[in-house]
Amino acid sequence: MKKSRILLPKEGLLAKYDRPVPRYTSYPTAPHFRHPASQSAFRKLLREIPEDQSISLYIHIPFCRHLCLYCGCHTRILNNEAPIREYLETVCQEISLTSAAIGRRQKVSHIHFGGGTPNFALTDDLDDLLEVIGQKFSLSDSLVIAMEMDPRILTRRKVRKLVKLGVNRVSLGVQDFQPDVQKAVDRIQPYEHVRDCVCWFREKGVDSINFDMIYGLPFQTPEKISDNIRKLVEMRPERIAFFGYAHVPWFKEHQKRLEVYTLPDAAARFDMSETARHDLMEAGYVPIGIDHFAVPEDALAGALKEKRLRRNFQGYTSDNEEVLIAFGQTAISGYGSAYAQNTSYSREYRDRIMASEFPVVKVCLLSPEDIYRRSVIESIMCYGEVDLMSIGCDARQWADGVWNSARQQLESCEKDGFVELGDMTVVVTPAGRPFTRIVASIFDVYLQQQADRETGTSRHARAV
Ligand code: SF4
Repeated sequence: MKKSRILLPKEGLLAKYDRPVPRYTSYPTAPHFRHPASQSAFRKLLREIPEDQSISLYIHIPFCRHLCLYCGCHTRILNNEAPIREYLETVCQEISLTSAAIGRRQKVSHIHFGGGTPNFALTDDLDDLLEVIGQKFSLSDSLVIAMEMDPRILTRRKVRKLVKLGVNRVSLGVQDFQPDVQKAVDRIQPYEHVRDCVCWFREKGVDSINFDMIYGLPFQTPEKISDNIRKLVEMRPERIAFFGYAHVPWFKEHQKRLEVYTLPDAAARFDMSETARHDLMEAGYVPIGIDHFAVPEDALAGALKEKRLRRNFQGYTSDNEEVLIAFGQTAISGYGSAYAQNTSYSREYRDRIMASEFPVVKVCLLSPEDIYRRSVIESIMCYGEVDLMSIGCDARQWADGVWNSARQQLESCEKDGFVELGDMTVVVTPAGRPFTRIVASIFDVYLQQQADRETGTSRHARAV
C-alpha cells in the first residue's frame, strides 16, 4: 500500500475546499430531519421490522464526569452517578415500550453504548439495563457489546466488572498524549494510565479496542502527532479513529475557552492529518474511509476488503444490520428507509415515557431518491469512489438526474485534480482524498439548498 504523503494543495485550493461539511453518518443528515413525529407513524416503523431480521441497539448515556473544552457532544456534567441510575430506569421503560410495539422478542446482534461517558454509569445499573434488554429482545449467541469509555474514570475493578457484563468491544477516548495539549483542553489523562487501561482489558480477553484521537487542538504540531502515534502503536489498539477537531463555538459555548490559544490553521491541520495517516500506515494499519484505521486482521479491514463496509451513526462499521434502534435522549434510530430522533430535553424525555409515549420528536422518511443518494454518498465515504449505475436495481431511474445535477461541481473538482470522472463514475484521486467529504457533499441535495456556508455558523466540521 502506498504510504507517501500528499503535498499541501496550493493555498487557493485549500481555501476553496476547506469548508464545513457533514461527516455523513446518515443521509439526510440530522439537521434535515424536519417532520414532526406522530406516535402512530413511529409505531408503524417498529411494527414493520421484518420478523426474521436481526437488529442493532444503541443506548445513549449523555453524562460525563468532566467537561473537555473541545467537546461537541450533547452531554451533562455530573459529580455523582445517581442521576444516571434514574435516567437508565427511564431508558428501560423506553426499551419495554419499543419491544411491545414491535410485538415480539426481535433478534439483536449488536448493542452499542455511546455518550457522553457510558462507563460513568454504575455497573449494577448497566447490569439491570442489560437484563431488561435480554428480557425484551432475543440476544444473538455472538452478541457484540461495544462501549465508548473515558479512561480517566476506569479502574482495574471497573474493567473487570464491565467485561463480566459482556462488554467485548471497547472505544477509549484518548485524543492526545501531550501534557501541554491535555492541559489546554482540560483533559488530563496520563499516557501511563491509558496503557494500564489497555492492559486491564487485554488481561480480561478483550481483543477489540479502539482509540479516538483528535488533531487540530491547541499546541499540537506534526511532530507531536508523530509522538502520539509512536505511543499509541506500542499499545496496538485494533482500531483508531483520527478526527479533525470541529470548532463550533456558536453551538458549543465552552469551546470559546480554547480561543485564548492559537488554533492550528488549515495548512497545519492538513499536515497533522497527513502525518497521522502516514505514520499509522507505516505501522501496518489499514486506512478505512476518511479517518479510521484498523489492523489488517480486524473486522473493519475485512469489511473494506470485501466491500461490506458501512457508515452509520457510530462511524465506519462492519455491522450490516439495516435497523438500528436507539434509546435515550437525542438518540437517532435508523430503519432502512427512515430515521427517527428522540427529544434532547431531559424532562420531555422522561415525561413522555412516563405517559407511555415514544420520546420521538422528528422523523425523516426517505424518498427513493434519498435512498439512492445515500448509497452514492456512502460509497464515496467508504471507498472513495462510486459507479452511479451500479447502485440498486433502480439505478438507471435516478442516475441521470443525480449525475446531471452534480456534474458541474464534479468537473470543477476534476480540473483541480481531486477526482477522475468516467461514464457515470467518480474516483477520488490521492490528492483529493483529504477532501472526500466535499466530493460526497456534491450529492447532498439538502446541503446544496441550505445557507449554512454563507452565515458561517455551520455545525459541521471543516473538510480538513
Ligand atoms: S468525555 Fe467525551 S463526551 Fe464527555 S465532555 Fe469529554 S469529550 Fe465530551
